[in-house]
Amino acid sequence: MNRKELADLLLPGITKTIEDYEKMYPERNLDEGAIVTRYAPSPTGLPHIGNLFQAFVSMHFAKQTNGVFYLRIEDTDQKRSIENGIEKIIKALNDFEIKFDEGVISETNEEGSYGPYIQSHRKEVYWSFAKYLIENDMAYPCFCSSEQLDEIRQKQEKYKSRIGYYGRYATCRHLSIDEIVKRVKNGEKYIIRLKSPGKFDNKFVFNDCIKGKMELPENDMDIIIIKSDGLPTYHFAHLVDDHLMRTTHVIRGDEWLSSVPIHTQLFRMFNFKVPKYAHLAPLLKDDNGTKRKLSKRKDPEASVSYYHEQGIPKEAVILYLATIANSNFEEWMETNKDKTLDDFKMEFKKMNSASGALFDLEKLLNISRNYLSKLSASDIYNRVLNWANEFDLEFKELLEKYKEKSIAIFNIEREQAKPRKDYSCYSDIKNQIWYMYDELFEKMDKNYEFQKIVEKQEIVNILDTYINEYYDINDDNETWFNKMKQMADKLGYASNMKEYKNNPENFKGNIADISNVIRVALTTKSMTPDLYQIMKILGTDNIKERFELVKNI
Ligand code: GLU
Repeated sequence: MNRKELADLLLPGITKTIEDYEKMYPERNLDEGAIVTRYAPSPTGLPHIGNLFQAFVSMHFAKQTNGVFYLRIEDTDQKRSIENGIEKIIKALNDFEIKFDEGVISETNEEGSYGPYIQSHRKEVYWSFAKYLIENDMAYPCFCSSEQLDEIRQKQEKYKSRIGYYGRYATCRHLSIDEIVKRVKNGEKYIIRLKSPGKFDNKFVFNDCIKGKMELPENDMDIIIIKSDGLPTYHFAHLVDDHLMRTTHVIRGDEWLSSVPIHTQLFRMFNFKVPKYAHLAPLLKDDNGTKRKLSKRKDPEASVSYYHEQGIPKEAVILYLATIANSNFEEWMETNKDKTLDDFKMEFKKMNSASGALFDLEKLLNISRNYLSKLSASDIYNRVLNWANEFDLEFKELLEKYKEKSIAIFNIEREQAKPRKDYSCYSDIKNQIWYMYDELFEKMDKNYEFQKIVEKQEIVNILDTYINEYYDINDDNETWFNKMKQMADKLGYASNMKEYKNNPENFKGNIADISNVIRVALTTKSMTPDLYQIMKILGTDNIKERFELVKNI
C-alpha cells in the first residue's frame, strides 16, 4: 500500500484535494494593506468584556483598512458547546454594534463566499488537508490508548523530561505502513498526529504585531491534528481556516502566544503564507493593590450583560475599550471633537504589550457620564424608557405617564455648553430624580438634609415668607433670583456673598442657606440640579404641599 492509499484508508470518503480548495477560496481582491481578520469564539458561554474588547479591536482594524471582519464559530469541542451558544454570542456583540462583514449570521445562516464558517461543518475540508500531510509522510495515525499516554508521561516525569508526544516517546511515529494497515483492519481506534520536523533546541523567532520580537523554541511535538471524534484540534483548524478564509491578521488572546511555533510550522509544511499574529494581553483588575485577571466569576463588570443591566450605554463601553486599546485615543478625541471613533487610526504598536491592560470601571463610568451629559433630553428619555422597560417597570410607567415632564426633568442643565454630568448609567437616574415624581416622593422614607438652618421655627418662617410674599410660578429666572435676594435681606441673611464673607457676624447666614431650606423642603436633598427649574417643573400645588409637609413634621 502506498501513502496515498493509506491516507484514503485512514480518512475515507474525501473527494476534494487541497488544490480544489485553493481554487474555491481564492485570494481576496482587496486594497494593499487591507486587514482580513476574524472573531472566532467557541460557543461555550456568553462573551465577557475581554471577548468584546478583542472583537471591537479586530473590527476596527478591518474597517480602517477597508478589509474584512468575519465571524467564525469554533465548535470543535462539542462537549463544551452550550445551547443556543451561537445566537447568544451574536446578540451580545450586536448589542455593542459589533458588526461582521461576513461569516455566521445565525445558527442556520451565513454570509460570504469563504464558508462554511462553523467548524463542525467543515470536517471534510480538514480531512482533505490532513490527508495531504499523510500522503507526504508529514502526519501519521496514533493508536496509543490513554493508559499508554499516561505511561509515557510518568516516564517523562521520572526522567525529568519535557512532557508530551515527541521524539523517542512518539511510539506510533515509527510504525510501518503494513503495521498501520493491520491495526486499522483490526478495528483499533486512532487519531492523526503531525510528524513534527522541528527541533526543540532550535530557536524560533517571530515578530508579533503587538509584543514585538519573540523568541521561542521550535516545535517538536507531534501534536494531534484530528481527534478521535474526527474533528480537528484548534491548531489544525486554525491553519486550514485562516489559510482558506484568507485571514491576514490573527488577533487573539495571548494564551495562544506559545503555540505560534506550532502554527508557523504547520503553515510552512503546506508552503502557505503565514498570517501576521497580534496577541492581546488580558484585561486586568486592580484588586486592592494587586493586579489579577478580570474574572467572570468574581467581577460582575466582566460580563457584557452587566452593562446592559446597569444601563451603561454601549457607546460609552466602546469608547472606553478604545482608550484601553490605544493610550493616545483619549487625547485624540479631545483634540478632534468633530470626529468620531471611526476616524481614529488604531495602531498595534500602541497596544499594551505587557502582561495586561488595567480595566477600570470607575473610568468607564466617567466616560459614560460625559457621554450621557451630551445627549439631548428626548434622546436620554427614550434610552431610559427602553432600559426601564426591561429592568424597572415602576419607573417605566412614570416615564410614560409623565412624558413631557420627564423630558423637562432630563433637560435641567442639559443641552448647553457645559451640561451637568450626574448620570453615569440609566439605573442611576431614578435614584437621583425620584423626588420629581409625586408617586415616588410619597412612598420614600424622607431624610431631610437641612444643613445650616435646622430650627423648625426658622424653617417654617422662611417657607411661609417665601410662599406668601415672594413666590410666583410665572417669574423668570432672574426675577426669581432677585426675589430670593430680597427675602434674604428681609430675614437678616446676606444677599451678597462678598458682604457676608467680609462681615459674617452681621448676618444670620446668607442667601445660599435660605435657598437651601427651600431646596431641601422640596426635594429632601441638599444637593440638586438647578432649583429654579425644579420648581418650575414641580408647579405650585406640589410646592405648597411639600412646604406643608415639612411644617407638619
Ligand atoms: N476559539 C479560540 C478561542 O476562543 C479562538 C482563538 C483565535 O482567535 O484564534 O480562544
